[in-house]
Amino acid sequence: MKTIAHWIAGQPHAGPTDRCGPVHDPATGEQIAAVAFADLQTVDAAVASAERAFPGWRATSLSKRVDVLFRVRELVSRRREELAAIVTREHGKVRADALGEVARGLENIEYACGIPQLLKGEFSEQVAGGVDVYSIRQPLGVVAGITPFNFPAMVPMWIFANAIAAGNTVVLKPSEKDPSAAVFLAELLAEAGVPPGVFNVVHGDKLAVDRLLAHPSIAAVSFVGSTPIAKFVYERGTAAGKRVQALGGAKNHMVVLPDAEIGVAADAAISAAFGSAGERCMAISVVVAVGSVGDPLVAAIEERMRRLRVGPGTDPDAQMGPLITREHRDRVAGYLAEAEREGARVVVDGRRAPLPPSGFFLGVSLVDHVTRDMRVYRDEIFGPVLAVVRVERYEEAVDLVNDSPYGNGTAIFTRDGGAARRFQFDVRAGMVGINVPVPVPVAYYSFGGWKASLFGDHHIYGPDGVAFFTRSKVVTSRWPDPATSRIDLGFPQTR
Ligand code: NAD
Repeated sequence: MKTIAHWIAGQPHAGPTDRCGPVHDPATGEQIAAVAFADLQTVDAAVASAERAFPGWRATSLSKRVDVLFRVRELVSRRREELAAIVTREHGKVRADALGEVARGLENIEYACGIPQLLKGEFSEQVAGGVDVYSIRQPLGVVAGITPFNFPAMVPMWIFANAIAAGNTVVLKPSEKDPSAAVFLAELLAEAGVPPGVFNVVHGDKLAVDRLLAHPSIAAVSFVGSTPIAKFVYERGTAAGKRVQALGGAKNHMVVLPDAEIGVAADAAISAAFGSAGERCMAISVVVAVGSVGDPLVAAIEERMRRLRVGPGTDPDAQMGPLITREHRDRVAGYLAEAEREGARVVVDGRRAPLPPSGFFLGVSLVDHVTRDMRVYRDEIFGPVLAVVRVERYEEAVDLVNDSPYGNGTAIFTRDGGAARRFQFDVRAGMVGINVPVPVPVAYYSFGGWKASLFGDHHIYGPDGVAFFTRSKVVTSRWPDPATSRIDLGFPQTR
């Protein structure tokens, strides 16, 4: 069976293979590869390679860096079908979702192609006689990215595009569950002319992460994953003196007001809850139905759910694929039994759906009359389970969103602009959709939640991404007026 290798100094690096993890095709349930888990020496080798590459890359002119980034953009764009197929094979999401992921990642490379503009500083002339002050932004050095399983191509692109463009060198530790997309991207970067050592990939588990967090040569860590690990990475990394941004989990609410167009809201709920089998940190997992909208909305969502096709990501007719592992599928299914025990009504039960015989499949589920004390409401389930909470008034809906320990995304559906504007003012969440269920910002804004959805003070990608991967330097310079020079430079002398 193939063992997926690390990528260090511009080439595959086998490293020891005594510790490996399984990589599955979630659509069949079969193990398709093993991935080598880095030991300390392998992590150190990747960091050393990035350290060696840093001075040269940092000194590479902006125009040359941009030239390379444009080539990366062209290659990823040209090879998007292959990259999407790799994502589908190891993650399980359907082709359309995988292609969407690649497209959203590419946006970040396109944004990073504008790095000359993004790195421009400020200049104040003649703050005192002959004195000017200006600011410049410089790269940090070697930076680490630690990424989750659910977007194995896009989240690495969120991180490395701006990091590399700004002149840093990178060690990426992708999820061990679907590691091949990161290696494919590393190959494309090398082909595009990114010098060896500028982008490295180490596979592994906690051992590799802990080493990156402790390594004295790592200047910054950009983490995306679940809240408990995000908190750990933030605390450990900052205690070691590193700059850290750690994006965590979520529980996103979609508030539907009584005036909303039911069909539009139901379509939105379906795509936002069940796209990528609900394994998205911006998935809608709770619909908050306000007042009279409850019954017709639940009926419209249910009717659409009954038509959803679940199948392998390679099946052109499938709209939703399997979950990432057997254990995760069983954990998600467990919430349905618990919801029933706690008194909720399972309107559509994914456990009873007609499903392919093998693989980590679960059908879509809708659970109505959920209350805030139930586990199906409180926990991040990260699967195709949509809960409906019914409330009487707008204020109760906002309280639910604001009382959540998470604050990633939220959305409101209404035809009333004033209500939408009020919601945007009231809610405590980092990303808000108005008649948009999954408000992932475009690459020239930044992505990030509030509360337990983000540790650190920079959001990821966009302007915050460039700020995170650079530090500012302010120069105060004095040059005497040439008229006072002892050497005659041809200026009228004042001495
Ligand atoms: P995860 O936290 O289990 O893993 C993320 C990374 O941390 C992986 O590279 C993994 O190998 C590593 N890791 C896991 N356990 C560790 C430990 N004990 N010590 C050190 N490192 C460890 O997350 P996941 O299951 O891969 O991804 C799903 C989670 O990520 C969900 O909670 C989802 O909401 C979240 N997520 C958040 C965002 C966001 O932008 N906020 C985006 C995508 C996913």
